[in-house]
Amino acid sequence: MPQRPAYTGRFAPTPSGYLHFGSLVAALASYLDARAVGGVWRVRMEDLDPPREVPGAQDAILHTLETYGFEWDGPVLRQSDRHEAYAEVVGRLLAQDLAYPCHCSRKQLEGQAIYPGTCRDAHLDRHDAAIRLRVPDREYAFVDRVQGAFRQHLGREVGDFIIQRRDGFYAYQLAVVLDDAFQGMTDIVRGADLLDNTPRQLYLQELLGLPQPRYLHVPLLTQPDGHKLGKRYRSPPLPAEQAAPLLCRALRALGQAPEPTLEQATPREVLAWGIAHWDAGRIPRQATLAEAQLR
Ligand code: GLU
Repeated sequence: MPQRPAYTGRFAPTPSGYLHFGSLVAALASYLDARAVGGVWRVRMEDLDPPREVPGAQDAILHTLETYGFEWDGPVLRQSDRHEAYAEVVGRLLAQDLAYPCHCSRKQLEGQAIYPGTCRDAHLDRHDAAIRLRVPDREYAFVDRVQGAFRQHLGREVGDFIIQRRDGFYAYQLAVVLDDAFQGMTDIVRGADLLDNTPRQLYLQELLGLPQPRYLHVPLLTQPDGHKLGKRYRSPPLPAEQAAPLLCRALRALGQAPEPTLEQATPREVLAWGIAHWDAGRIPRQATLAEAQLR
């Protein structure tokens, strides 16, 4: 039997916009963490939400990764090609009564921080319904390699969450868990905006008997108004001619210390330096980092 690689990681962009500096930092962290130990690194396109997809963003993201010197293993997996696998699991969860159809409209739920469980035991028809997963009345905890111990009570802090939307599209929580397992991910390295999504993913892994990967959440870069970089203002694609200086800047955001002369190197040379010197222990142990304060 082929041996499972000791380390498989990934970068999983959503094509709702171009690659911006914040996503470059996440891509770089996952790449270096994998390559520093000779691990596998994959790219997965999280194209679950066609209405929110920016035309041309998929190609532009891959093109930027290439011009910035990243090399990934194997073909890019697209979540739009995985609907059958998601449907099978949703069907199974419904059959086991671990999930249920929900007919509540957005308006009905207005002002409720947590889903009040209206449809939980109503045994409604699946037609024209969202599908919600029942959450257990307990806490899920894990130790993040950078952020440390994190715990969340799914019943009290999250509530039953949607795994398939009313319009038929699958939810990120479901797809990410199935795909990370399908692709044999041992390590998830991503932005800290997803830290509080992780307990939902741990629950799904437990429910479906899937292995739990290690987690490393890098600080989220924020704009002066406190918003996540790139979310609020549509960022243009990262400039190709700035690849080396921006990679150096991303390295510094991750607490690494490239010499200033590295900015004159090629993107591949910057990445090679990053692999040789990678020390995840130097990543700032904070959930956010103001972009303006970066050198
Ligand atoms: N697709 C998600 C994003 O672009 C990342 C998902 C993940 O890394 O788990 O924010």
